[in-house]
Amino acid sequence: MSPMDHQAIKDLLPLAALDRLEPEEARALQEHLRDRCDECEAELRTLRETAAALALGFEGAAPGAGAEERIWTRLEARLRPSAATGVRDLARRRPARGRAGVWRAATAALAAGVVAMAIYADRLNVQLHRAHADQRRVLAAIDSQLADLRGQLRRAGDEVGALQRVLGERVRLERVLSAPDLRLIRLAPLAPAPGAGAIVAVSAAHNSAVLQASGLPTTPEGKTYELWWITKERGPVAAGLFQAEQGRPAIAPVVAPPAGEHVLLGAVTLEPAGGVSKPTGVMYLKGAPGPA
Ligand SMILES: [Zn+2]
Repeated sequence: MSPMDHQAIKDLLPLAALDRLEPEEARALQEHLRDRCDECEAELRTLRETAAALALGFEGAAPGAGAEERIWTRLEARLRPSAATGVRDLARRRPARGRAGVWRAATAALAAGVVAMAIYADRLNVQLHRAHADQRRVLAAIDSQLADLRGQLRRAGDEVGALQRVLGERVRLERVLSAPDLRLIRLAPLAPAPGAGAIVAVSAAHNSAVLQASGLPTTPEGKTYELWWITKERGPVAAGLFQAEQGRPAIAPVVAPPAGEHVLLGAVTLEPAGGVSKPTGVMYLKGAPGPA
């Protein structure tokens, strides 16, 4: 390891780029670079390029001999009270060839300051960049959490919707069941589902009817159960669709038997999804309504 640590060497790099190192500092830097510190090597290269570009700029703007003298006099006057030691230090770093030499040392110090500021700005930029990346990561995480929450909300909404439908049907059933003119029509099972059964509660006054079925097989894909009132006048009249789920009673609002018609039978068949206007499928339940 070199006698000076990486940070100490790094602090010397702006001066090194301007060839303003003391001999022992230059030796330490050489040792450090021989130890293959890629970071310092890369930074020194960048600084040399920057310094070269700056030197060109200063060279171009360099005043003529007389002007240099005048500017130096003014600069000296301004530096003396506060920064005299700094100027002496600069002069010591490179033996001055008269005032012009000190002037060059001063411009070099200015250049070093500019280089240091450039480096500082560069580091700030890197820090900003990092902070920005961190922020983006946090935002992305928040975004995905929001998406999760939205999904949960949607599912909860769906569940609430389903519960509201069930509740609405139950409320409707309650209302029909508590109607003073309540009439119950029992539908008995047929061969395809011997354990099934249904009751249609009808309130003519409420012009409302609710079906509750149990023991029916789960509605197959692409099918629906359909209730019919078979009247003497019109034959089968479609009275509503419902789905069944094995092991759960199905409750669905249905159409009350047509008033003023002679209803011979109530029946449930399995039909294509969406229902049909005349029964085509297997009959699962049927029952006579009895006198109205
Ligand atoms: Zn280093």
